[in-house]
Amino acid sequence: MKTEVKSTCCYCGVGCGVLIETEGERIVGVRGDPEHPANRGRLCTKGATLNLTANPSYRLHYPERRAQRGESTVRTTWDQALDEAAERFAATIRQHGPDSVAFYISGQLMTEDYYVFNKLAKGLIGTNNVDTNSRLCMSSAVAGYKQTLGVDAPPCSYEDILQAKVIFIAGANPAVAHPIVFRYVEDARAANPDLKIIVADPRRSESAEIADLHLPIKPGTDIALFNGMLHVLIRDGLVDDDYVARHTTGFDALAEIVRRYTPEAVAEVCGIPAQDIVQAARWFGQSGAALSMYCQGLNQSVHGTHNNAGIIHLHLATGLIGKPGAGPFSLTGQPNAMGGREVGGLSNLLSAHRDLANPQHRAEVAALWGVPSVPDKPGKSAIDMFAALKSGEIKAVWIACTNPAQSLPNQAAVREALQTAEYVVLQEAYANTDTAAYADLLLPASGWGEKHGTVTNSERRITHVNSAVPAPGEARHDWDIVVDFARRLGRLLGTDGERLFPYADAESIFNEHRESTRGRDLDITGLSYAWLDAAGPQQWPCPQGAISGKGRLYEDGVFPTADGKARFVPVKHLATAETPDAEYPISLLSGRMRDHWHGMSRTGTVPRLFNLEDEPVLAMHPCDMRHRGLSSGDLVRVTNARGASIVRVEERPGLKKGRAWMPMHWGSQFMNTPGVNAVACDATDPYSKQPELKHAAVQIEKVDLP
Ligand code: SF4
Repeated sequence: MKTEVKSTCCYCGVGCGVLIETEGERIVGVRGDPEHPANRGRLCTKGATLNLTANPSYRLHYPERRAQRGESTVRTTWDQALDEAAERFAATIRQHGPDSVAFYISGQLMTEDYYVFNKLAKGLIGTNNVDTNSRLCMSSAVAGYKQTLGVDAPPCSYEDILQAKVIFIAGANPAVAHPIVFRYVEDARAANPDLKIIVADPRRSESAEIADLHLPIKPGTDIALFNGMLHVLIRDGLVDDDYVARHTTGFDALAEIVRRYTPEAVAEVCGIPAQDIVQAARWFGQSGAALSMYCQGLNQSVHGTHNNAGIIHLHLATGLIGKPGAGPFSLTGQPNAMGGREVGGLSNLLSAHRDLANPQHRAEVAALWGVPSVPDKPGKSAIDMFAALKSGEIKAVWIACTNPAQSLPNQAAVREALQTAEYVVLQEAYANTDTAAYADLLLPASGWGEKHGTVTNSERRITHVNSAVPAPGEARHDWDIVVDFARRLGRLLGTDGERLFPYADAESIFNEHRESTRGRDLDITGLSYAWLDAAGPQQWPCPQGAISGKGRLYEDGVFPTADGKARFVPVKHLATAETPDAEYPISLLSGRMRDHWHGMSRTGTVPRLFNLEDEPVLAMHPCDMRHRGLSSGDLVRVTNARGASIVRVEERPGLKKGRAWMPMHWGSQFMNTPGVNAVACDATDPYSKQPELKHAAVQIEKVDLP
């Protein structure tokens, strides 16, 4: 007999609800959940084919260990595996201290999984070396919100897209990366012929195709554009002076800076016409309801935090925030990057939007967890963590549900770090990722359709996700693996792991996390699994006594800062970490494709997705191709000092001379050459520590086949 179970899509941060159809213990179908507020039954090509990805041949079914790097793995038992891991971690901690171990986790995990990983590192072991692949996609959004609005809270809802009069998409391509959000944009256009859509993107992306104004700025000139728009808003009297005076601070200092960002000066920096900057600013300032959407194009930059602040300034200056159809709306990449942010799943954060650097916050979390203290030494963020692994400062790493050997920039250095590490544990659903080759211990984890817990999407909406089928073989839930390991490690370290990790199920972890939010900006003390099942997915905050979650933040103009006012930050345009030169003259951009997700562990197994574009193609401008004697279809070597990737090249419209574009999905799992991260830049933003994955200077040469 067939049944349907409510869940969510496990790909992007839109967080679409799905109904998983099962027959016995098999997933046999999937459809959009018509009752889920994020998508109302709609799914994109990836979500609609999820059932075809349910159990690929390379699922990891049993714990496996490797006696030596380079050798094959052999099956072991859970007891042997977790005892070995606990003994290795305990020995390392005893000999070298708590900061000699690290945890690198994932925005694909459930909130409950994230919570126990953080408690394990920061509460039981006493290290803040726990970071996540979400560092690669949204840590600049976190830092940008905190610098300007006080806390990490996207103020908008998807419904706001439908009410906007101007939609400003900057550094994002929702047509392929967030397809159901883009359906909202298309619906808004259909309902309002006067709607203006502005897209700022160095490439004429799929999203730019429906724009009324496309601003093909030079890569890395976002702040110049935003400051230039603010200059026009001030010059043309489009600033809401009353809102600025009553609800913000720091405007005058920024206004002084942007005096120099005339449209003409900015046109020179950004490489676009001055009148387009004026047009964009006027549409924005005169709209009465402007909504900005942004993602990796702003975040993945050494100026990512200030890119975010720059776009938020436009809303603060015009008072277009906390109103219907208005506000700065960062889109999250992964399905539960937001849940990770809620539980403090970054090396500088603590539960419920608390800061590690704040002594009171550390004391609050220590009291909640029942531990003497939370260490004050900042943990290593993703890039620094693997550098420390390479240098030997970190000896043992536990990686969960992510594939750093492919997804981190400067891939050769990351692989050397993994090779150098004394001990690598990989907790994964798949046995064949690039990272698996470096694992001393492989622990099989449950995957989509099997997991149970909560996830939060881009609009702060929490969904209770149910297991539809059991995990295959001996695979276990991520939280369950962590809890079992924590108890064993606690025994060896003389810490009461049983007391700190008493959980029998995901719900008991959720309930503890819920309590940690009491009185905080993201208070969810009104929620429970039963409530979410009965009332449906809810946005935070949703405190005790609330009848529903809150769709729009800052409607009263009061911000969660010490004085209740939002802050303008004195941001200036600065160069990217790498600029093209004679040796590496091409500016390489990277991005996503509609039918693939991350490293393609799932989408690469679905013929109807994979066959639409079965290899990564480098897109180039025809002049750059002619200059190198290239024709579409030729193989080219993309190189810089960090590495090389060999791919096919094609002339594709939408790129300016001197720029090239390559998709980010491919690794050696699906081709015999490293992907774009072989050459991608690992320089980081000073505030968010997010690497500049979007800009690298490269040379491109023809590969002459024998
Ligand atoms: Fe899944 Fe995102 Fe597509 Fe929705 S838009 S179905 S969450 S990939």
